[in-house]
Amino acid sequence: MSEQVTQFPYAYHFDAALLADHLMRVGIGRGVTRVVDDVLETRLDERGWISHLVTREHGDVHGDLFVDCTGFRGLLINQALGEPFVSYARDLPNDRAVALRVPTDIEREGIRPYTTATAMVAGWIWTIPLYGRLGMGYVYASDHASPEEAERTLRAFAGPAAADLEANHIRMRIGRNRNSWVGNCVAIGLSSGFVEPLESTGIFFIQHGVEQLVKHFPAEGHSEELRRDYNRLVARCMDGVREFLFLHYYWAARADTPYWKAAKTRDLPDGLAERLEAWRHRLPDSESTWPYYHGFEPYSWASMMLGLGGVVPRPRPVLDLLEPAAAQREFAELRRRAERLVAKLPSQYEYFAARH
Ligand SMILES: Cc1cc2nc3c(=O)[nH]c(=O)nc-3n(C[C@H](O)[C@H](O)[C@H](O)COP(=O)(O)OP(=O)(O)OC[C@H]3O[C@@H](n4cnc5c(N)ncnc54)[C@H](O)[C@@H]3O)c2cc1C
Repeated sequence: MSEQVTQFPYAYHFDAALLADHLMRVGIGRGVTRVVDDVLETRLDERGWISHLVTREHGDVHGDLFVDCTGFRGLLINQALGEPFVSYARDLPNDRAVALRVPTDIEREGIRPYTTATAMVAGWIWTIPLYGRLGMGYVYASDHASPEEAERTLRAFAGPAAADLEANHIRMRIGRNRNSWVGNCVAIGLSSGFVEPLESTGIFFIQHGVEQLVKHFPAEGHSEELRRDYNRLVARCMDGVREFLFLHYYWAARADTPYWKAAKTRDLPDGLAERLEAWRHRLPDSESTWPYYHGFEPYSWASMMLGLGGVVPRPRPVLDLLEPAAAQREFAELRRRAERLVAKLPSQYEYFAARH
């Protein structure tokens, strides 16, 4: 819609920009007309649907279906159509982030091939290694830290390399629209909803919204059934991720600050108490995890539960009856294979340097 790009400071920004650029070219190649402008006003018809957008330089833009991708503003869906936003703040209190782009000498220090999330006093810090810099950001709850405290914490964590860097403060709207498709407007991306970035689900939600729109496209005309199905799928998907994230805090080994203590005592989202009871006896599986598509498989739930260290599940009794030697041989072979690969493969830095 606009050339003006929200300067999100996190690491995948460039990849997302490349993807957006690629999709734009594909679209134009297939006959899409691209209009870059600012939307000044959204005009509704007598049904309360969108009749056209008033733009700064291109006048009125009419359409049958409007996709709201205006970010947290929700310019069409919330502001023009008045669709209510269902906040997840009770379950996921992190509502702010502060970020830095920290230069690093990759030749000397290498590039770690993974992102690190580090638990902090009132949230967590992402460290995303890139070619030439580290993306770093502190995601925190404004009830537990002020922006100044958060920035100080992040700078201390980043060390002297961050001394003169400008920090970018971001407010996050956590939750989803009651309905993401209203009348002839479908909100996709941040305008539809967002959960904090601990599991990097923003682009996944966009992809899911686009796929569902393709499946539910109103080619024969608008229908209530199409909208209802779409809204149900999108809401269930986001609500499932909300629960998945909630458990990261609930199960975390840390409980030493008011922020982490609150994570252990807040009310459980609907239905979770029953699932937690099931997981006291067996690891999360397809029968006991969130029952609708939300992008995470049962093994992700089990890995989270085992990895966070806040709960120690009992092994299944049947395992006591098994002879462990065969499994131990498999694990030893896996370890040997990993060692052989580590010795043989280029480092992350060498690999990227060769491709640059
Ligand atoms: C702190 C943080 C970390 C994140 N980390 C991840 C991650 O690790 N992985 C992941 O997948 N996702 C992540 N996300 C989510 C990701 O940023 C979004 O999913 C992605 O940016 C998509 O954004 P969008 O297009 O919906 O909105 P935006 O990127 O906000 O784009 C909205 C656009 O609408 C335009 N606009 C607004 N008003 C008007 C107007 N009146 N006229 C014209 N144009 C207008 C703006 O200029 C802007 O270009 C993160 C988000 C945050 C906040």
